[in-house]
Formats: sequence, C-alpha cells, structure tokens
Amino acid sequence: MYKFTQSGDTYVVSINNHEELVAALAQFCTDQGILAARIDGIGAVSSATLRFLDPATKKYVDGTFDEQMEIAALVGNVSQKDGKVYMHLHATFGRRDYTSIAGHLLCARINGAGEVFVTRLSCTPGRRFDEETGLNLYQF
Ligand code: FE
Repeated sequence: MYKFTQSGDTYVVSINNHEELVAALAQFCTDQGILAARIDGIGAVSSATLRFLDPATKKYVDGTFDEQMEIAALVGNVSQKDGKVYMHLHATFGRRDYTSIAGHLLCARINGAGEVFVTRLSCTPGRRFDEETGLNLYQF
C-alpha cells in the first residue's frame, strides 16, 4: 500500500501506484500510531472526488473528476475522532490544460507518484461534531 522512511518527526511516505490516497494515508497513520500530524504532499492521480460544504444548507456537494491530474498541493492534518484516525485533507489538482480544481479531498486514485510528508505532532487533539457549522471541529 505504501513505503516509508523517517527523518526525525517527519515520515516520508510513498503511496503505491493505483492505491486510493486517503485510505492509504489513514492506514499508514493507524499502522504507525500517529494520532496527530500535519500533511503535505505532491504526486499524480487518475481520479479524485472533492467535497464542498454549503454553509447555508450544511449540505455537502461532491464532485468526481475522472482524469489524469497532478497533485499540485495536498495539505491537511491528522487528528482522532472516536478513537480512530481522522484525516482532514484539502487538495489542489492541476489539469492537462494547466487549470486547477480544488477542495476538501474525499478520495483520489494515485496514478504515478504519491509523495507525502507526514509530520507527527506531540499533542493529541480530538474532534467533536459542531451543530452550528455542521463540521467535526477540533476539540482541545
Ligand atoms: Fe475540509
């Protein structure tokens, strides 16, 4: 699913080709016992599903893009919710025509490289559902 090496608190993770990126990262964090981290990465995908939350309706609008795209920027964090790894990832994808799409990342299929830095944090923030925003917000 992935390979990795470590430099201090930072793990250098290579997601295997054709793996689903979000699931692979969650599995990596679970395997390594990482309960809090920052994430940044690059690579390429053959498809991605992005999510947009409409604050007015608190309804999610999901969009799937089945095309080859560069992961121009993958950023996010790892925390825990209900004792499990909770990923919060946003991504900007570059298209063939050099335009980009971006949003909250639900899933993406690696097609090429998937190079992600996972920097472990010493705190262990949790998450709690917030009625006002409809989001699982940090709980400190
Ligand atoms: Fe988000």
